[in-house]
Order: sequence, then C-alpha cells, then structure tokens
Amino acid sequence: MSWIGDSAALAILSFDVDAEAPILVESRRHAQNPAAMSHQAYGPLVGVPRLLDLLADYSLPATFFVPGVTAERYPETVERIAAAGHEIAHHGGTHRSPLHLGEAAERADLQRGLAALERVGVRPDGYRTPSWEPSERTFDLLVEHRLRYDSTLMDDDRPYVLETAHGTLVELPPHWSLDDWNQYMYLPEPRSGSGTIQPPSRAVELWREELDGMRRHGCLFVLTMHPFLSGRPGRVEALRTLVEHALDAGDVEFVSCAEAARRALEDTSLPRRALRRY
Ligand SMILES: [Zn+2]
Repeated sequence: MSWIGDSAALAILSFDVDAEAPILVESRRHAQNPAAMSHQAYGPLVGVPRLLDLLADYSLPATFFVPGVTAERYPETVERIAAAGHEIAHHGGTHRSPLHLGEAAERADLQRGLAALERVGVRPDGYRTPSWEPSERTFDLLVEHRLRYDSTLMDDDRPYVLETAHGTLVELPPHWSLDDWNQYMYLPEPRSGSGTIQPPSRAVELWREELDGMRRHGCLFVLTMHPFLSGRPGRVEALRTLVEHALDAGDVEFVSCAEAARRALEDTSLPRRALRRY
C-alpha cells in the first residue's frame, strides 16, 4: 500500500498554536508588553475559531501543534479544537528550541508539554520542534516518549522513516516556503519577522505553485500556519481559495498528520534514514 494512494499529492493543513509562547521564551519581560501579548493572544481567541469554521465549511481534517504553555493558558481553545474532531499534537513545553538546551532541560520541556496536553485529555501521536530547531538527540527522545511521527526535518518532500537509537519515527517534512511566518509576521517589539507583510494573495500564490509542483511530483504538501497570523480575515479568505483550488484539482487528498503517518507506516517501500551526523 503506497502512502499516497491514488492521489497526486497529499495535503496537510497544520496550525502551530504558538500564542505568546515564542515571545515569552525570548524574554519574560515581554509579559509586561500588552501590545505584543495581545498580538499573540489573537491566535487562540479569534484565529482558531475562525480557522475551525473554514475547516468545517469543507469538512477538512487538520492538525494543531500546541505548546504546553498554550494548553495551560487556553484550555478552552484546545478543547474546542478537539471537539471539532481535529488532531492535537505536541509543539514543545514552553516553545524553547531544543538546539541549545542541554539533555536534561530538553527532556523536562518535552515532558512538560506531554503533561499539559494530558491535563486537557490529549495523548499526542506526533511532534513538531519549536522554530524547527531540534537537537541531535530530539528524535531519540521522541521515540522514547512514544511519539510516532515528527514534522521538522527538510531533507525530503515525501514522508520517510527516521531511524533513531530507540526505534523508528515517521518524518513528515515541512519547509520554510510553506510557512506563513515568513509571509505575515511583523512585530516591532520584540522585533520579529522579515519586516514586510505580504498580501495574502502573494502568500497563497507561493503555496499554490508549490502544491501544483507537488501534484506533478507526488509529494506531501505540509502547510504550516499560525492562528495569530493566518486567522486574520483576508488571510482566511486567501486560504479558502487555496483549499478550493486543491479540491477543484480533484487529485489532492487532505489528511491529518497522524493519518499521513499511519499510511506511511503501512508503506514498506518508504525510505529509511538515520539522522546525518556532521
Ligand atoms: Zn511554534
């Protein structure tokens, strides 16, 4: 059984519900900056419900990667996502990048995220590294904590099996070009984003061209969005045009990350790789 089935491409709509976490991880002093905090709080308060409505309009599945601190601060948002039938996955405890954490701190942060999700009734299947900055031990830790897939590494555009010291993990590769952060993020303090906010039509044009290429090449389209960015009205409507383009094409199937990982695991022809060491 091939992971892609009869489709030309599989598409994943994924949302990283970061909220205030990435800003507070830079410095706790930003907690005293109501403007910056409110910009981030828009995600769980307004963006998530609006995006859930869009998904419901087309009965599409999606995966929401939730940091532990977001689950602690907005349990009702997580419950709302779960009630709509969507997958909730692990996105770190505090949204610290494992890259520069020691092993004990990385392990503790991963476990904090698991505990926070457990308190809202979620046992996640998979994980996405905060800021896509894993350490060399991240993947071993994920398998040790019984996570089945990851969506961080960029050395492919199709799923593959990642071999770790503790067993295997399915990798569902994302890419910076399929991330709304680079199109939409702007904060003056703390200074974040490229400084240029793109029109939603430009962002969606970039994503649509990649999707069409992926339909030609039989790939896994992993779109990464943040509700505080992509939950804004014009951006939701642009995302709607992308969804309708994919549905009109007739050869794209939308799946959750967990479903893509499940199909990948059943495909014995999937490439198997270990993390390259340099
Ligand atoms: Zn994030």
